[in-house]
Amino acid sequence: MANQPLPSDKHIQRRYLRQIQLPGFGEAGQQSLGEARVLIVGLGGLGCAVAQYLTAAGVGNITLLDGDDIALSNLQRQILFDEASIGANKADVAKQKLQQLNSQVQITAIDRHLDLPLAETLIASADLILDCTDNFTTRYLINDVAHFYKKNWVYASVLGFAGQVASFNTRLSCFRCLYPNVSEVPNCNQAGVLGVLPGIVGNLQALMAIQMLCCEQTCNQLVRFSGNDYSLQTIGLAKSRQCLICSGQQEYFQLHSHRCDESAQPRAITASQIKTFIEQHPNAKLADIRSPAEYQEHNAGGINIPLSDFESWFAGQVSQPLILLCQTGKRCQWLLGRLPASSTARSPVVYLEGGLDALTHPTHSLHLLKAL
Ligand SMILES: [Zn+2]
Repeated sequence: MANQPLPSDKHIQRRYLRQIQLPGFGEAGQQSLGEARVLIVGLGGLGCAVAQYLTAAGVGNITLLDGDDIALSNLQRQILFDEASIGANKADVAKQKLQQLNSQVQITAIDRHLDLPLAETLIASADLILDCTDNFTTRYLINDVAHFYKKNWVYASVLGFAGQVASFNTRLSCFRCLYPNVSEVPNCNQAGVLGVLPGIVGNLQALMAIQMLCCEQTCNQLVRFSGNDYSLQTIGLAKSRQCLICSGQQEYFQLHSHRCDESAQPRAITASQIKTFIEQHPNAKLADIRSPAEYQEHNAGGINIPLSDFESWFAGQVSQPLILLCQTGKRCQWLLGRLPASSTARSPVVYLEGGLDALTHPTHSLHLLKAL
């Protein structure tokens, strides 16, 4: 809520006193929460529980993502919703309810399901991602993009009377190290669930999230909960040498592409060929397709068109020679494979092999690019 006045230090102290007074949490812990940007993917039973506690705890910036509308059969476990909200979008209603709980939290609701371009944009700008979905396709997408952007995330799932939660610092190990290749399992709609189960597991997920935002000690642990005998089992997670992502065999854009045009031949130029290319195409433009955050941190000039926006931007351009740039060249290679061959026939579109990483030494090439 942009128009809310900033809370005074006294107000923050009063509001969060019971957690600030905790040894090991204190004002530093509260400040970490207040500065955090959290993405919650899915506002079902898990997401409803997680979002309430993170909002109440004072996480500064929360993005809620869910493309589903509320149905009568959701009310048994999705406790942010009521009968009056049936038919409305889950993220929108959740935002309204959460904002009543804590007006000082910046909450954004997005009425969409997670796809690759959205994952790139939202995960790149989040400090922590919470998977509250019920499918492995989305989990793998979150994992693979989070690994690329070196983001921490927390996974949770519920099935029948059992649930599990796992935290990942993706520099250490990832979801694919734990589950290399799972095809879909039944979700709550198909297998049934007691409403209280996602509440319990979602609260464990919220606890992990808060501890990860304040310190990373809880990372890379899997906690299993049994609703039959109330037992909790904690398992440390290690990196797998066979993991596609951690071993560097695959990048997220290779694993999650469904529209790759195999007939299009990616065209790469090396750093030493930049000068010749610019001489041949003096009106060439440089387009850096990394995220705005990466671009701001370090760039070689040109314009920043993030990967997720590139295709719509490109469609509106007059034909012009382009040099595409990313960090390692891999995103550009993947992107060029998606562009129809006809669209790049009149004016060449090339990418810099090795990306910005290849420009560390040949400063002359960097100088040329800055001039574009
Ligand atoms: Zn891994």
